[in-house]
Amino acid sequence: MQTERTNRRSDQVSASLHERLRRGARRLTGARREVLRVMELESRPLTNKEIFQALPKGCCDLATVYRCIQLLENLGLVKKFFLGDGPARYVLISEGDMCHRHHLVCTRCRMIVDIGECIVRELEDRVVERSRFKAVTHRLEFFGICPTCQ
Ligand SMILES: [Zn+2]
Ligand SMILES: [Zn+2]
Repeated sequence: MQTERTNRRSDQVSASLHERLRRGARRLTGARREVLRVMELESRPLTNKEIFQALPKGCCDLATVYRCIQLLENLGLVKKFFLGDGPARYVLISEGDMCHRHHLVCTRCRMIVDIGECIVRELEDRVVERSRFKAVTHRLEFFGICPTCQ
């Protein structure tokens, strides 16, 4: 991660991210900018602690990172993953992914593959039919070991 971080100017967060935050009526505070910058440079899902550790020293405390991630999740800017190895991990989702999608995650290196739009609509229809619930949604992620890690 350290090497990737040199590719971008240190104070920069992409304009589209900034815009999405603004649309959520949120200011880009110093801590939020740093958290977003760390997440933009890392395509793999990170824990709150990993994000905190990648921040510049003295930027903010861990509690601020938790609050910031919570906000980003509420705004639909990050997606939460549980890889079965402890705490939740978060990854920025690109704007085109805002709609409902599913992902495949490597449990070793944490690489994420977007497997596209929903493939279980039929199953959801069946659940709706049987339960007569309304506004049914679901979360479904796939896990495995990627070709590189095999
Ligand atoms: Zn892997
Ligand atoms: Zn789905």
